[in-house]
Amino acid sequence: MSQQFDLVVIGGGPGGYEAAIRAAQLGFKVACIEKRIHNGKPSLGGTCLNVGCIPSKALLDSSHRFESTQHELADHGITTGEVSVDLAKLLARKDKVVEQLTGGVAQLLKGNDIEWLQGTGKLLAGKKVEFVPHEGETQVLSPKYVILASGSVPVNIPVAPVDQELIVDSTGALSFPEVPKRLGVIGAGVIGLELGSVWRRLGAEVVVFEAMDTFLPMADKALAKEYQKILKKQGLDIRIGAKVAGTEVNNNEVLVKYTQNGQEQTETFDKLIVCVGRKPYAAGLLAEDSGVKITERGFVEVNDHCATSVDGVYAIGDLVRGPMLAHKAMEEGVMAVERMHGHAAQVNYDTIISVIYTHPEAAWVGLTEEAAKEQGYEVKAGQFPFAVNGRALAAGESAGFVKFVADAKTDRLLGMHVVGPAASDIVHQGMIALEFVSSVEDLQLMTFGHPTFSEVVHEAALAVDGRAIHAIQRKRK
Ligand code: FAD
Ligand code: NAD
Repeated sequence: MSQQFDLVVIGGGPGGYEAAIRAAQLGFKVACIEKRIHNGKPSLGGTCLNVGCIPSKALLDSSHRFESTQHELADHGITTGEVSVDLAKLLARKDKVVEQLTGGVAQLLKGNDIEWLQGTGKLLAGKKVEFVPHEGETQVLSPKYVILASGSVPVNIPVAPVDQELIVDSTGALSFPEVPKRLGVIGAGVIGLELGSVWRRLGAEVVVFEAMDTFLPMADKALAKEYQKILKKQGLDIRIGAKVAGTEVNNNEVLVKYTQNGQEQTETFDKLIVCVGRKPYAAGLLAEDSGVKITERGFVEVNDHCATSVDGVYAIGDLVRGPMLAHKAMEEGVMAVERMHGHAAQVNYDTIISVIYTHPEAAWVGLTEEAAKEQGYEVKAGQFPFAVNGRALAAGESAGFVKFVADAKTDRLLGMHVVGPAASDIVHQGMIALEFVSSVEDLQLMTFGHPTFSEVVHEAALAVDGRAIHAIQRKRK
């Protein structure tokens, strides 16, 4: 390769490809090395576009339409004939969405004059990069800067070895050839709840085993409680404190042995999804003498600005500390590049939103009430339900609430927690408010459109001070 690159990015996921594009905008000559082959073709977009965010959301959307057509249309006076699912078509639609988006990333790189190097990258000593193409000869590149963005892979547990036939990880669970009659899920985290919901809506009986004694321990307690109640009502059988001790595969069935409340129990399924977390993926990424440090948990060690222990080498996304989320990876990529260019860019890790894309969705940003108290804040909180919101009732989407957590001394907003319609979008109002260091009063003084789901945001802000209008307040204020 005769070309001299300013920046080589290893990994073309959301972190890597966005970094590459921003660098090209800033005038860098950029190469992005990506080794992924998806459905027989080289593919950009990483976990997110190929086997993560996008295909799972395509399935969530299709399965929600199926469920809502079956169970919600009658309430609106709409009668349908028999409703059925053509699973092959549903999966093909998901694949088409993936193809469209991954192809779009390839176009974006091309349009920005970024070289997509199809193959494997490895960081060598002295900031050099070895590139082993899928076809052709190995080359060594000497860029000014390197970004490591190789992402993550699912965690495996010995009690349930993944064979991608009966026991699958999240990737296998995106393409079951038929709807399982009984589906087991190990892990009531984000993937378990999203993919468990997909297959439940399509007709599977779903049991979710969660080893911890608390449901969604990272979420605000009030949100987790309400959300669990909603999911249970939908028919998701979530067993908390259920520790899987072993699995046996026999005659196209998986037997799961688990203990709950000190009792040994068994369940049989025709498919089992293992989704107990993800771990950073650095296999073959670093030569022994690359100089880049790895933490005990396998993450590449970085500072607040994603710089590694080697000058000019940055690492971003799932490969480094922090939540494993596409938007976090993207912002880190952009920050790293802007830092190379001399800008004082930063990522505000306090305002990274979390969303679980079930229906209704659960979403939050900032501190939970419990975390705020632990951090020593004198907390005031307020919440307001969708149940009395005109738009929510009109839409038949009245489950859930919006909750605000604030500092009682300064009125500063600390966190927002939403379970309910359009929670993934509504939560951005809290994110923007937190970014602008808003007080609760700021939100109280704003005029929200009527009739909108967002009016619940206004009411929740008023509720922090016992002033919600569509609720009977005991105290006069
Ligand atoms: P990745 O997207 O993992 O990309 C890394 C890329 O690097 C991969 O394509 C890999 O092939 C390539 N690579 C690795 N090593 C090398 C090498 N040596 N040489 C060349 N290439 C290499 N996040 C959200 O924010 N919202 C969601 O709704 C969401 N849903 C998800 C659903 C599922 C089922 C899963 C599994 C994940 C989901 N995530 C979601 C998480 C999200 O996908 C990740 O946080 C995100 O993809 C991380 O981006 P990244 O760029 O760090 O790494
Ligand atoms: P997770 O960390 O969200 O949840 C894993 C769950 O499994 C936890 O509740 C944990 O207590 C439980 N667990 C761990 N070991 C267990 C065991 N042996 N038996 C039973 N339960 C066990 O991980 P995930 O759901 O696998 O998702 C991985 C990552 O992907 C997450 O970090 C998430 O950020 C990302 N993701 C995000 C989204 C989204 O943003 N909507 C969607 C999917 C995935």
